[in-house]
Amino acid sequence: MRDFQFHRPSTVAEALHLLRQASAGKLLGGGQSLLPVLKLDMAEPSDLVSLSGVTELRGIRTEGNQLIIGAFTTHAEVAASAEVRAKIPSLARLADGIGDPQVRNRGTLGGSLAHADPAADYPAAVLGLSATVHTDRRTVPADRFFTGLFETALEPDEILTAVRFTIPQRAAYAKFASHASRYAVVGVMVAQYPGGVRVGVTGAGPSAFRWTAAESALTARFAPESLAGLTYPADDLTSTPEATADYRAHLLPIMTKRAVQTALG
Ligand SMILES: Cc1cc2nc3c(=O)[nH]c(=O)nc-3n(C[C@H](O)[C@H](O)[C@H](O)COP(=O)(O)OP(=O)(O)OC[C@H]3O[C@@H](n4cnc5c(N)ncnc54)[C@H](O)[C@@H]3O)c2cc1C
Repeated sequence: MRDFQFHRPSTVAEALHLLRQASAGKLLGGGQSLLPVLKLDMAEPSDLVSLSGVTELRGIRTEGNQLIIGAFTTHAEVAASAEVRAKIPSLARLADGIGDPQVRNRGTLGGSLAHADPAADYPAAVLGLSATVHTDRRTVPADRFFTGLFETALEPDEILTAVRFTIPQRAAYAKFASHASRYAVVGVMVAQYPGGVRVGVTGAGPSAFRWTAAESALTARFAPESLAGLTYPADDLTSTPEATADYRAHLLPIMTKRAVQTALG
C-alpha cells in the first residue's frame, strides 16, 4: 500500500477543499470497500479524506412523506433506528442483512452507494423506494444515479450527503444472499405507492435496475399471482462462478414474489 496523507475534516466544505487540493484525493467512509481496494494496490490515493468527523452527514429524520438518512449513517444505525423501523421497516431489515456485524458497524449508506457494487443491497432500496440522492451540489433521482458497473453519476470530487426515501404504503426486500459474504446474488425491493408499484433489483446485472414489467403487473394487482409467467431475459444478466445468468433469471421472479408475499404480511 502506498503512503498517503490522512485528513479528518469536520465539515463538508472543509472535506471538499481538502479533496480539491490533493493531487489524487479520495473520500473515506467506513472503509469496508475502500480499504480492501487499497490493500490490493487497486487505488493509490495521495490523500484520504475521512468523513467520520463530519457530523452534518449523520442522522435520520422524517419530513412529511420522506425519510432522510445522512450519508455517514452506518448500516447498524439504520437497522436499529426506531424511526426507520416505524416508517420503512423493510429498509431496517435490509440494513440488518448486510454482511456481518463488523461490516454493519463500520459501513455507511453513502459509501455503499458511491461504491455501487453490483451486488450491494442499498441500490435496490434506493430504486424501489423512489429515493433522491443528495450531494454537496445537487439532487440526483435514483433512476439516474447508477450508471454502470461500479459507476455512478457522482463526479470525482462530489460528496454524497444524504438520501431521501419516499415512505411507501407497504414494501419488502427479499434477497438470495451469497453464502460467503451475504452480498445479494439477487435482491429485490418491492414498494407500493398510491401512484403505482416500484421494483428495484440488485445483484442480477452489472448495476441495479428497475423491473418495469413486474411493476406494471403489480400495479394492476398487488399479489404474487400477478407475476405468473413473467420472466426476465438472462442475456441482460450477470454470470459469475457463484451463479450463472440463467440462474439469476430463475431467481428474479422468485425473489420478487417473496417480497410481495412479505409486504402483504
Ligand atoms: C466481508 C464484507 C461483506 C459485505 N457484505 C455486504 C452485503 O451483504 N451487502 C452490501 O450491500 N454490502 C456489503 N459489503 C459492503 C459494505 O456494505 C460497505 O460498507 C460498503 O460497500 C462501502 O461503505 P463504506 O462506508 O465502508 O465506504 P468506503 O469503503 O469507505 O468507500 C467506498 C467508496 O465510496 C466513496 N465514498 C464513501 N463515502 C462517500 C460519500 N459520502 N460521498 C462520496 N463518495 C463516498 C469512497 O471514496 C470509496 O470510493 C460487505 C463488505 C465486506 C468487507
